[in-house]
Amino acid sequence: MEHRRLIILGTGPAGYTAAIYAARANLEPMVFEGDQAGGQLTMTTEVENFPGFPDGVMGPELMEAMKKQAEKFGAEFRPGVATDVDLSQRPFKVVIDKEREYTADALIVATGASAKLLGIEGESEMIGRGVSTCATCDGFFFRNKRVIVVGGGDSAMEEATFLTKFASEVTIVHRREEFRASKIMQERAKSNPKIRFVMNVQSKRVLSDGNKVTGLEVVDNRTGETKVLEADGVFVAIGHKPNTDFLRGQLELDDIGYIVTKGNTSETSVEGVFACGDVMDSRYRQAITAAGSGCKAAMDAEKFLEGQAAHDWSVTLNA
Ligand code: NAP
Repeated sequence: MEHRRLIILGTGPAGYTAAIYAARANLEPMVFEGDQAGGQLTMTTEVENFPGFPDGVMGPELMEAMKKQAEKFGAEFRPGVATDVDLSQRPFKVVIDKEREYTADALIVATGASAKLLGIEGESEMIGRGVSTCATCDGFFFRNKRVIVVGGGDSAMEEATFLTKFASEVTIVHRREEFRASKIMQERAKSNPKIRFVMNVQSKRVLSDGNKVTGLEVVDNRTGETKVLEADGVFVAIGHKPNTDFLRGQLELDDIGYIVTKGNTSETSVEGVFACGDVMDSRYRQAITAAGSGCKAAMDAEKFLEGQAAHDWSVTLNA
């Protein structure tokens, strides 16, 4: 069983930034890449809102650059997904891919969240070619186009309202007669003249010409009738799922499964375990906010480990 002072789980902007800061603090972190090395940004094309890139940067390129920067300072990357942990005592135990075991004095969890998909025909095939789960990332590409937003929560209202800055028409498609979204978000969407609503329908198939999206096939729950809603883009906004299944029973999670952190820090309910990025942030979910929280987690971990070293030293002196 290998031991490290610090293990980092996850390699989105939060994990990479934590790795850069921790490596520069000589903590020699071992970083497990997760099932998608580089995280959600490796699924996008151009990133136009990450500061420092006035001409934009391709998502995978940005993540590769972050990884190189961390490696330059001594972070060690290993493939693998954390499948189990034992946080009941230190050193913490981390199981990777159900078979390899590692121990660490401190742990940073940056395993991110995954956008939920509808799981219908045509959907995953057209991601990046008209199907998106992020209006902030991809809305700009739909200037003067017609788009559909699927969902009935705050995210759907927010994404639809945001998309009216670019799109000529936004249709919110929801499976029930009532929205789950808060009143204020609903009112904002309802009072926007560019937004229309198609209620009580199940999404059945994303339609395309092979290259780009042409619409969404839906079935009316009341009549059973199949309809085609023509559109150039389909935004799926049915919620995100934090990647925390392996932490259940070990750390405090909220009702949805996001890691609960203390105040303005990255500290979790277990001393020595820190969380950053989308796995603890259901609100902002941006690459830049994730990177910022990764920095905080590394600094918190460094401080914790320094405190441990001082404690061990005083125990030795007093022995
Ligand atoms: P959410 O509240 O869980 O809503 C998900 C929506 O998607 C629901 O309307 C649900 O329909 C629908 N849905 C789920 N699975 C579906 C499926 N398979 N097919 C079709 N529709 C499906 O998720 P969210 O909107 O992402 O919000 C998550 C949390 O973040 C909430 O607490 C929200 O308040 C918060 N948030 C806040 C803001 C803000 O305040 N600015 C913005 C965004 C999100 P049903 O209603 O029928 O279940």
